Amino acid sequence: MKALIFHEHGGLEQLAYAEVPEPVVGPHEALIQVKAVALNHLDLWVRKGMPGLRLAMPHIGGADVAGVVAAVGEEVDGAWVGRRVVANPALACGACEFCIAGQQSLCVDFKIMGEHTPGGMAEYVVVPATNLYPIPDNYPFSQAAAAPLVFQTAWRALITQARLRAGERVLILGAGGGVATAAIQIARLAGAYVYAVTSTAEKERRARDLGADETINYKETDFSKEVWRRTNRRGVDIVLENVGPATWAGSVRSLAKGGRLVTYGATTGRMAETDLNLLYWKQASLIGSTMASYTEFAQVMDLVFSGRLQPVVDRVLPLNDGREAQRILEEGEQFGKIVLAVE
Ligand SMILES: [Zn+2]
Repeated sequence: MKALIFHEHGGLEQLAYAEVPEPVVGPHEALIQVKAVALNHLDLWVRKGMPGLRLAMPHIGGADVAGVVAAVGEEVDGAWVGRRVVANPALACGACEFCIAGQQSLCVDFKIMGEHTPGGMAEYVVVPATNLYPIPDNYPFSQAAAAPLVFQTAWRALITQARLRAGERVLILGAGGGVATAAIQIARLAGAYVYAVTSTAEKERRARDLGADETINYKETDFSKEVWRRTNRRGVDIVLENVGPATWAGSVRSLAKGGRLVTYGATTGRMAETDLNLLYWKQASLIGSTMASYTEFAQVMDLVFSGRLQPVVDRVLPLNDGREAQRILEEGEQFGKIVLAVE
C-alpha cells in the first residue's frame, strides 16, 4: 500500500510517499481503508522525535482517520465490515485501574495512534475494534477525520477537567488551532462567554464566525492586559492553554478569582514559571488534560455527527502532498484542520 513514511526523525525532508506492506489484522482489530486523515501538531513532534519515543521504522504518522472497515479479526463482529467509521486514536490497555474505572486517557500504558503505533497516513490502518465509531451515511470523510483528536481533547479539558458552567468567561489561546476551533464551539454550546486570542485579523474574523464573543490579536496587544481591561479588572474563569512558556504568565494573570487554567499542550517549550503569589491569592487551579475517556469521546462525537459542533477544515490535500501539508501546519498558516484525502 502507499503511505507517508519516515525512516529517521528530522525535518520535512524525511517524509516520503512510498510503498509499504499492508498491516496485518489481529483477532480484536479492524482494518480500515482510509479515505481521509487529518494532521495534528502531534505528527510534527513525532517526526522530529521526542524524548522517550522509540519507534519501529519506517514510521507512519496520523492519528485522525475516517474510512470504511475493510476487514475484521476473528473475535470482532463481522457486521462492521463495509461500515463508514472514524477511529478513536486513544489507545488504552483496558486492564489497569484507570481503564477499569472508565478513565482511558489516564491509562498507565496510554498510547496515541500514529504516535506510538503506525498511524493512518496510508491506504490502510489497523485499529482495535473497540476504537471504531460509526459515522452517518452522508457525513463527509474529510470532515469526520478532522474531529476525533481535537474534539475529545477540547471536550475533556473544558467540560470535565475545568468544569465549565453556563455564564462563565473563557479565554481560548491560539484560536486557529484545531483544538481551539473545537473549544470555541463547545464553550458556546455550554453557555460560556468566549474570548479568543489569535494572530491575524482574518483569524479573528473566523473565530467570531465560530462563536467567539470577542477576539484579541496578541501581535497588537498584551493579551492579559486586554483581558483585564475588557473584563473591568475581573479576569476570566477559565483559560485554555496549549502554548506554554510564551503565554503562561499572561494566562495566569488573566484568571479571575477562583479561576482555572487548563493546559493540554506546550508548543513553545516544556518549562514555564508561575507567579505563586497570584496562584494562591486568586485561589486559582492549574489543571492538566489529555485526550478523553471513551465515554467523553462518544458524547462529543454525537454532537459532531448531529451537526451541533462542526469540525473546521482549512483545506484538503492528497496524501502524496503530505510534506506540503506538514509545512503549512508547521508555519501556522492554517485555520482549523489540514486533511489528507486518500484515493
Ligand atoms: Zn489502562
